[in-house]
Amino acid sequence: MIKKSEKAFQEAVNYIPGGVNSPVRAFKSVGGTPRFIKRAKGAYLTDEDNTKYIDLIGSWGPMILGHAFEPVENAVRKAIKSSFSFGAPTVKEVEMAKLICDLVPSVEMVRMVNSGTEATMSAIRLARAYTGKNKIIKFEGCYHGHGDAFLISAGSGALSLGVPDSPGITPSTLGDTLTAPYNDLDAVKRLLETHKGEVAALIIEPVVGNMGCVLPKEGYLQGLRDLCTKEGVVFIFDEVMTGFRLALGGAQERFGITPDLTTMGKIIGGGMPVGAYGGKKEIMQMVAPSGPMYQAGTLSGNPIAMSAGMAMLKHLKKHPEIYAQLDETGAFIAEGLRKSVKELGLNYTVNQIGSMYSLFFTSEHVVDFKTAKTADIPAFSKYFHQMLNRGVYLAPSQFESLFLSTKIDKRIANKILRASHYSLTSLVEE
Ligand code: PMP
Repeated sequence: MIKKSEKAFQEAVNYIPGGVNSPVRAFKSVGGTPRFIKRAKGAYLTDEDNTKYIDLIGSWGPMILGHAFEPVENAVRKAIKSSFSFGAPTVKEVEMAKLICDLVPSVEMVRMVNSGTEATMSAIRLARAYTGKNKIIKFEGCYHGHGDAFLISAGSGALSLGVPDSPGITPSTLGDTLTAPYNDLDAVKRLLETHKGEVAALIIEPVVGNMGCVLPKEGYLQGLRDLCTKEGVVFIFDEVMTGFRLALGGAQERFGITPDLTTMGKIIGGGMPVGAYGGKKEIMQMVAPSGPMYQAGTLSGNPIAMSAGMAMLKHLKKHPEIYAQLDETGAFIAEGLRKSVKELGLNYTVNQIGSMYSLFFTSEHVVDFKTAKTADIPAFSKYFHQMLNRGVYLAPSQFESLFLSTKIDKRIANKILRASHYSLTSLVEE
């Protein structure tokens, strides 16, 4: 039953563009009515019609420890007693900065912002200020928030809605963003040769979540690191999704790569609106007021958000075994899905690393934007609705990674696999 969601959506479209405050939530690429969620706990979401779903989005990443995680809830409860925002420094911000510098290998200094978008926009401005160059390189199908410079061959919602190049971006911005296929080192080499001395930064999702889950090939990230070092390009890891997820120190720890700057979000807010960018001291000291690169925020370092995020990060630091558990659950689900598609003769592709995974509706080996786009979207859409009807809430797009939380245990993982097998079976039988 989706009566209440339907009513809410009908009303929403009159007042909010497309009825939602972030495009992918609208179910546009899969069709149907988006579920309006009223609460969540642990591994489950509950919608306005009181239907319960196993949640494989986790608020698009932050809920690595499940919804309404008690230490985070308690930290927020305690913090709100002292008011919500001061617009003045707090010791919590210092504590948060120290914690991030301690946990993320390449980060020596960090600035808090309010979203992943702010983090990436600021990081490229900083790279331009630091190098005195204008151009940036991004990868086709990667998403770095909705900053103008990134809405070119963008992934995530832009890709799901078929508008990877948004109107409203000026020709000069377009001209300053160079794009290359993911996992193709030679393409980057060629770009750097053609635009020698012009490139300020190269920004990458070290593991892509925004064209579905796509992994870097062996040696690819190190190859990029070497090219950036050689050409004096600021190497930026966008760890908004991978940070504190693929390892406590993010993808950079997992792959042993040292970027110059890192952008973060999602988990560091524990579900509150937070982002951050940080990196080498020499570069970060360019940021105002210690340097001339201007960047500010009325609510940046907000005490409630800092309290939530800190409770989350401290828990992860205290329980590093969580990462082995997430890896195990991820591998278990990926194996189960592979077995299921093979049994049904479907030949679909499963990409997985730790707690990120995607079932791609294609037999291609998905390594980049081009191969991701070979997916059968109508088949995915049917599968999505089949899963929803069986109580499993997937991202409403083929071009999004799914996220596991520690609350998805073997029993729930088996439920997901069963729901998936039945859903795929009914597609085959259609
Ligand atoms: N970078 C990456 C890798 C992301 O996945 C996202 C959002 N999904 C962003 C940046 C933008 O973050 P936000 O939506 O918080 O602005």
